[in-house]
Amino acid sequence: MKSVRLGKTELNVSPVGFGGIPIIPLDVESAVAVVRHCFESGITFFDTANMYGNSEKKIGHALEGNRQKVVIATKTLERTAEKAAQHIAYSLANLRTDYIDLYQLHSISKNDDLDKILASDGALTAVKQAQAEGKIRHIGFSSHDLALAIKVCRSGLFSTIQFPFNFIEKDPADELFSVAQELDMGIIGMKPLGGGLLERADLCFRFLQRHPYVVPIPGMQSIEEIDEIIKLYDSPRPLSEQDNKDIENMRAELGKRFCHRCGYCMPCEQGVKIPEVMGFRTMARRLSPQIAIALTKAAIETVEGCTECGECLEKCPYNLEIPELIREHQTLFNAYVAKHTP
Ligand code: SF4
Ligand code: SF4
Repeated sequence: MKSVRLGKTELNVSPVGFGGIPIIPLDVESAVAVVRHCFESGITFFDTANMYGNSEKKIGHALEGNRQKVVIATKTLERTAEKAAQHIAYSLANLRTDYIDLYQLHSISKNDDLDKILASDGALTAVKQAQAEGKIRHIGFSSHDLALAIKVCRSGLFSTIQFPFNFIEKDPADELFSVAQELDMGIIGMKPLGGGLLERADLCFRFLQRHPYVVPIPGMQSIEEIDEIIKLYDSPRPLSEQDNKDIENMRAELGKRFCHRCGYCMPCEQGVKIPEVMGFRTMARRLSPQIAIALTKAAIETVEGCTECGECLEKCPYNLEIPELIREHQTLFNAYVAKHTP
């Protein structure tokens, strides 16, 4: 596979990377086998996060001995310097390395996140200190909010941006990615398969290959999934007329139901956690039933409070029928619990 330059970091990585969430529920042996198979298949970019359970530990174990041949990215959700410094130390130990190629401030999606990170005792101070000590090579960020992501890119403080990008969530290809490219930032595409909701990997990656400056990081959980994706990169072909029609049909169908988890509908006065509720399907696809239920139960319980006031409908830029969709997720969740509880 031809490598891609990750912007001004000057890191060269495989055109498709590895996203570290789906190995969370795997046992250590299976997770290590998946990560090693990615490496042996030519993938050189591995992205994880301190908050992804034991994903860092599994990746560190799997890649030990090949550290110089791979680029490792991780991230912290912490906003203070003290906590971020702790996370950097944990990540280095978990990943069994003395340097992290790319350290990202995770999910900068509100102005408040940015203010906290940039404060004198904020997370960026600790990350820069670690960079000065050689523990971190480059600093990036991830976000789910287009307008804020553009603002953060323009701050000039970060070398890479990580943002959701797939043929349903294609808005970043307009202004955001243009700004990032102008600033010579590396661009990492999260959710290339729509967080597990888009089942046609061939369409997803052929669409992404039209944007070769974006390095997607699909979550892969099995050898078969890895081989399927690698094949699409080893023998790329443009989208056919039929592929484009299929994409349009899926956009029309899913567009009415696809939650981008942007959070614009929040807050709900009744305390309904709308984006978390909408994320249940992805959790159920990616995680073990026990973990998926534990992580979404509290959010699903808030659906009971919905009075169908309609305020969220006015705020959702994608015109989703939120009250109907959250009830649908509640029903799905209850059926899922019944199926997976002994
Ligand atoms: S329901 Fe709409 S506004 Fe709320 S998170 Fe989803 S896409 Fe965004
Ligand atoms: S319709 Fe329901 S979820 Fe939406 S704002 Fe009103 S109470 Fe909250």
